Amino acid sequence: MFAVSSRYFQILSRHLLRRGFCQSAEAANDSGGRILAAIDFDKTIVQQDSYLAVSQLLPSAQRSRELQELIPQCGWLTFISRVLQELHSEHKIGSAAVGKCVRHMEAVPGMLRVVRRLATNPAVDLCIVSDANSFFIGEWLKEYAIEDLVASVYTNPASIEANGELLILPYEEQTECDLCPANLCKGSVMRELIRSGRYDRVVYVGDSCNDLCAMQQLRAEDVACIRRGYELHNELGTAAGGQAGLSCSVLTWRDGHELEERLMENELGARPGY
Ligand SMILES: [Mg+2]
Ligand SMILES: [Zn+2]
Repeated sequence: MFAVSSRYFQILSRHLLRRGFCQSAEAANDSGGRILAAIDFDKTIVQQDSYLAVSQLLPSAQRSRELQELIPQCGWLTFISRVLQELHSEHKIGSAAVGKCVRHMEAVPGMLRVVRRLATNPAVDLCIVSDANSFFIGEWLKEYAIEDLVASVYTNPASIEANGELLILPYEEQTECDLCPANLCKGSVMRELIRSGRYDRVVYVGDSCNDLCAMQQLRAEDVACIRRGYELHNELGTAAGGQAGLSCSVLTWRDGHELEERLMENELGARPGY
């Protein structure tokens, strides 16, 4: 399995990670217990879906139904691979222009502040768990100069060919989990991080159904933060977390401002928030 953190980002900013969510010295976790904050990327940190944003670089005539149908039929990785291939071979649009497009994606309001506050908590290790890819996420983090705040990024690795074409490879090839695509089970990423025994508490923030798999790994002392009005929240409806196979606390949020407030209120969440 390939964690992109070490190879692509080289951003193991250990000392920056050791600074606190509450930003107060007394909150700097004298007990020694560490907190893992794991955050999805598309529609959680950034407002758009990055794969759909990049597909907009294709002329509208080429954004055919056949292309769109690749998403439900073959998955997002196949979809973006086709998009990138067509951009490069037919329009001479390579990694530089794709990177520029990605850098222009807007953050979810208030989410940059959440990322910075998490990263300045001495007790928190901040990571991104995403079915996007290392190139898109890296470009975007660099645009906002926050790449050093993220300890690890678990996502599909990208490589840039000598001719400028961008290739996205699967993070893994799995058949065990039906909730997640074959190329990345977010639940198995979280399971391994929790099993490491390093974290007293885990906070997971996400918007969609493959984030549910990650959230299902969380324990009673952990918190799932589900974006209200988006795929996973709509899917769960008003069901209590327990009915979705969640044993952790649950809170919902609409933007980064609300997420920050509710995480602070709950001191990383001690009670269910539905
Ligand atoms: Mg998402
Ligand atoms: Zn899974």
